[in-house]
Order: sequence, then C-alpha cells, then structure tokens
Amino acid sequence: MMKNYLLAPGPTPVPERVAAILGMPIPHHRTPGFEKVFSEVRAGLKWVFQTEQEVIMLTCTGTGAMEAAVSNLFKRGQKVITVNTGKFGERWTKVAQSYELAVLEIKLPPGLPFDPAILEEVCAANPDAEAILFQASETSTGSRMPVSDIVGLAKKYKMLSVCDAITALGVFDLPMDAWGIDVLITGSQKAMMIPPGLAFIALSETAWKKTAESDLPKFYFNLAKEKKAHLTNQTAWTPAISLIMGLHESLKMMKEEGLEKLFKRHELLALATRNAVKALGLDVLSAKSPSPAVTAVLVPPSVKEGKKIPKLMRDKYGVTIAGGQDELEGKIFRLSHFGYCSYFDITTGISCLELVLAELGHPVNFGAGVGAVLKTFADDEIKSGGLKI
Ligand SMILES: *Cc1c(COP(=O)(O)O)cnc(C)c1O
Repeated sequence: MMKNYLLAPGPTPVPERVAAILGMPIPHHRTPGFEKVFSEVRAGLKWVFQTEQEVIMLTCTGTGAMEAAVSNLFKRGQKVITVNTGKFGERWTKVAQSYELAVLEIKLPPGLPFDPAILEEVCAANPDAEAILFQASETSTGSRMPVSDIVGLAKKYKMLSVCDAITALGVFDLPMDAWGIDVLITGSQKAMMIPPGLAFIALSETAWKKTAESDLPKFYFNLAKEKKAHLTNQTAWTPAISLIMGLHESLKMMKEEGLEKLFKRHELLALATRNAVKALGLDVLSAKSPSPAVTAVLVPPSVKEGKKIPKLMRDKYGVTIAGGQDELEGKIFRLSHFGYCSYFDITTGISCLELVLAELGHPVNFGAGVGAVLKTFADDEIKSGGLKI
C-alpha cells in the first residue's frame, strides 16, 4: 500500500467536500437547479477576482483562456509585448505568434527579480504596442512578478495589461478592479481546488471594447458570445457541469476562510518551505522574488542527478512534486504549497525530501527541515497569540 500526496503546482489536491460533489449524478444544464448554481458561481468568481466584471468560464485548461485572450483582443498584425521569464511567459509568445501578431518578447534569465525599468524601455521604444502579456507568478521558476508595476506601465503607455494569474489568483492579493488589470486569467486545477477542465477570464471595460474590434479567427472561444450567455446563467456550449458544481463548493470553502486569511496562509506555507530547504543547505531559485504558490529549489552539487529527486519522492514514497522544465530540467525541483494545502502537507513533503536527499548523497541532519517548518508555524502562532509556550 502506498498513500499518495500531491504537492505539484497543478493539478492540486481536491478537497473531500468537493470530491463528493464531483461524484454526484449529473443534472441537465438548462434547468432551474443548475442555473441557480451557475449564478452563485458567477457571484463567487467576481468575489475571488475582486471585480464587478463578468468572469467568463471556458471549458478548457488555462492555456485555452490565454489563447482566447489573444484571439479576442487583437487585430491582424498588431504588436504586443510579452514578458518571458520562464516557460509560461514563453507560452504567451507562442500563442501570440501563432496568431501572427508582431511579438516583441522580453526574455530574461530565470529566477531574477523582474526589473520594470527594462519593460519601461521597451514600452517607450514601442508606443504602438497594444498590450503587455505577462504572468503574476511564473510557475516554472517559482517567481512572483511585480504586477502592480507592470499594470502601471501599461496604463502609462495606453496598452492593455493581460495577466496570466494561473498560480496567483486565489493565492495572493490581485485586486483586478482596484489595480486596473485589463485581463485576468486562471484555471481550475490550481488555487480553485477542482480538477482540470475549466478556465476563467475577466476583462475590463477597455478590454471588452477591444474585443468588438478584433478580427482574428475564432469560433469556440468567443468571449462576447459567452458573456451574453453567462448573463442569463447559460453558456454558449455545453458547460463542464460537474466541475462547475465542484467549484460551487470550493468557492464556499474559500469564502469560509476569507481572502485575507487565505493569502496569509499561502505566505506562511511558502515561508515555511523556504526556511526548510535553507535548513537543509539548499538554495531557492527565485530567492529575491519568491512566489507564494510554489518554491523552486536548486539541486545541490552533492546530488549528481537532479531528476532523481522528484522521481524517488514519487516512486518510493508517493509524494508527487514537480521537476524543472527545459533548460532547468535536473537543475531544480518545485514544491507547491497552494490551494487545499496546510501545515502538515508541508511537513510531509519536507520529511520525504530529507529521506530522498540523504539517499542521493546529500548530507542530511534528519529533522532539520521539518524542524524549520514547525518553528515557522509556531513562531507565527505565538505572534498571533494562538500558541502560548
Ligand atoms: C498551469 C499554468 C498554465 C496553464 O497550463 P494548462 O496546462 O493549460 O492548465 C498557464 N500559466 C501558468 C503560470 C500556469 O501555472
């Protein structure tokens, strides 16, 4: 018997309450019962997105919503700026290129804090660009991006800010309306705590206006058509009924916790993870701008084959984390700590890491990492008066 633990940055674990609903018999979508669920989900999504705008639900993964953003916002041949600090930034470039837009890519080495001055230079030299396409959290490097600075630059140069927040929304604060983010995107299998298959996209007033002028080809992903349907609690095509029912429950859980506490929990879990790997003598890749969603850890020189760390953790102990992608393969591994994740998911992940590091030749003082996790949590509890020792 092997018990499995999921500590990867998507799919993330599905709470028991949600899983129970996913297993229920399927209702028809054009019924008053489902329409009620749909309308409550619409309200819940507005709450997590912190917007008055309609949040459109698409039946696809996050990449589908990225593609929908591109195909619905722009006209043939228009110029856009993409920010590539990793695999998902590169995806923006590829999506925009596949629609034959004129793409100006800012490509930076992974793991460095993003310097908005570089972006400002590109904006100033290309005032005809329509938009800046970027991530809020670059999952491939565990890096948090300075979203409000990027949105500020987009405003200054009259460009749209198009933000892939797929490992950011519901993890840390991204108030769409207050910051004036034009397009905000997430996917179901990340902080929304349901299986893959739904993507979410919200557009500002300005962005909706752009969709009316867009002449790029589209059929399935027609955001204006979806918005019209959503307003009457319908979808243009058959919705992912079970996932929307699951989302109804996971949004309830998020509401019960409240956004402020939810953001704090993620900060704390991330801090505990960083403290633990440091206590084990390892370094964090994006140490100066770490994401609260996922921690990318550099494989230490003592471990010859870095790819073996996630492999052994999964195959021998049932703990699934993520490795590095492309040029980071074998050089980093990534521990996720968002969504349905608590203190003891972190202690489990770190204890498994200790065993595996030792097996692969890294000197480990057993318990050092786990101790650092517990100390982080205890310090926080003591600070807030929840623990008196
Ligand atoms: C997971 C993820 C995506 C979407 O990937 P899908 O496989 O399409 O769900 C996009 N951007 C970021 C930052 C992600 O973490």
